[in-house]
Amino acid sequence: MIRTRIKELLNSTAYGEEVTVKGWVKTFRNNQFLAVNDGSSISNIQVVVDFEHTDEQILKRLTTGAAVAIKGVLVASLGKGQRVEVKASAIEILGDSDPEKFPLQPKKHSLEFLREIAHLRFRTNTFNAVFKVRNALSFAVHRFFNERGFIYMHTPIITGSDAEGAGEMFKVSTLDFDHLPRLEDGTVNYKEDFFGKPTNLTVSGQLEGELAALAFGNIYTFGPTFRAENSNTTRHLAEFWMIEPEMAFYELQDNMDLAEELLKYVIRYALDNCTEEIEFLKNRLVEEEKSKPQQERSELDLIAKLNFCLENDFERLTYTEAIAILKRSKPNQKKQFKYLIEDWGADLQSEHERYLVEKHFKKPVILTDYPADIKAFYMRMNEPDEQGRKTVRAMDILFPGIGEIVGGSQREERYDKLVQRMEEMHIPTKDMDWFLDTRRYGSVPHSGFGLGFERLVLFITGMTNIRDVIPFPRTPKNAAF
Ligand code: ATP
Ligand code: MG
Ligand code: MG
Ligand code: MG
Repeated sequence: MIRTRIKELLNSTAYGEEVTVKGWVKTFRNNQFLAVNDGSSISNIQVVVDFEHTDEQILKRLTTGAAVAIKGVLVASLGKGQRVEVKASAIEILGDSDPEKFPLQPKKHSLEFLREIAHLRFRTNTFNAVFKVRNALSFAVHRFFNERGFIYMHTPIITGSDAEGAGEMFKVSTLDFDHLPRLEDGTVNYKEDFFGKPTNLTVSGQLEGELAALAFGNIYTFGPTFRAENSNTTRHLAEFWMIEPEMAFYELQDNMDLAEELLKYVIRYALDNCTEEIEFLKNRLVEEEKSKPQQERSELDLIAKLNFCLENDFERLTYTEAIAILKRSKPNQKKQFKYLIEDWGADLQSEHERYLVEKHFKKPVILTDYPADIKAFYMRMNEPDEQGRKTVRAMDILFPGIGEIVGGSQREERYDKLVQRMEEMHIPTKDMDWFLDTRRYGSVPHSGFGLGFERLVLFITGMTNIRDVIPFPRTPKNAAF
């Protein structure tokens, strides 16, 4: 039996046509009105059951969550809220769902509860909308780069390097932890490990991406990334997806332009192609806002917020300028911030980023030229400023409600400067010879950035916890399936 997808049925005007629907029961009212969903749309199709001519056993088995196949005729609906419905002529139960046990009853469940049954939450309207938007966004990302001639380069998941130097790596090993082979001095003998050396899951595809960019010009990677983040926040996952373009002959300005263009492109794409889902998510948030006190409610709804982002240039300023703004807010600093900004050189905490974006500029912000000491080794060094302070050509893009969504930089292309910086930061250059070759042979100015895909999905769906925008979240003490 070929089925027609419910999304198509809902848009059809072929009244009188015989159709087959296959999907899962949402509700069954008055032994007559069956709401069926097959995942193709958030909306259900209403099936009118002829209860007098339907087997009593079948009627009993039409419970929430059960899988059904229905044959019937498409008719105009007299009921409110739908244009068409299916008048059933035959109903088959494909898979029962015990009404006593099925956890997704037809009512509003909290996101916390749904997180506990993450394996079933795909069947809810909210997650249907979120993962459809996620799907559309990943397609939009590929389309954006494809239209601009970027090469999609698959960088390795198992690597021997730590691009960020932040020590947040998951080790990859086939050694038996209970009987580790030891050298004479007692240290682990990695020669006996699978790769003959320590390896880990990638924290970023950037270094490999640079190799490819210095041959192809413009490339991007888009794949899973792993960080043993030991903090449990609503913005960090242990396994997340990152979009990392890398461009030869790009300086910091070009890099910022590309990142802003990409963000606007994918937001536009989602608004144009996920209208049903975004409308649903907007309404969901409007409902949620009603439970807040008036002064805490946001001025813009989700769609207005996305459009605002499209219509306005992102604010661009240096780290040094940002610190001055934060310091000027001093009378309130004590009340406003847990961490006070006293000195130039400290890393911004998320509360500072949020202050700049949400209170001061009230729009997305690109911060550039961070102190060299708080950024990774590969960033292009600026000339020291009048006060002799060292900065690098870094750029972070900060979004309202999210904080950092993009981290990028112009890369240090000068061999001597790069080696000097690596030595200062105690990065063993002998293991990185493959990387340094890019600076030995035909080095050019180049730039790139990393866009956290889940943070992008968070922003566009209006969800607030990163666990709710990835199908299978991995966080500390949580890798359920
Ligand atoms: P943060 O300051 O939020 O920890 P980061 O500076 O460590 O982020 P980068 O190394 O700059 O992150 O990575 C680039 C982008 O990847 C970030 O801007 C963010 O969007 C995303 N990202 C980084 N870490 C995570 C994570 N653990 N989970 C989800 N997304 C992440
Ligand atoms: Mg981090
Ligand atoms: Mg950061
Ligand atoms: Mg960063």
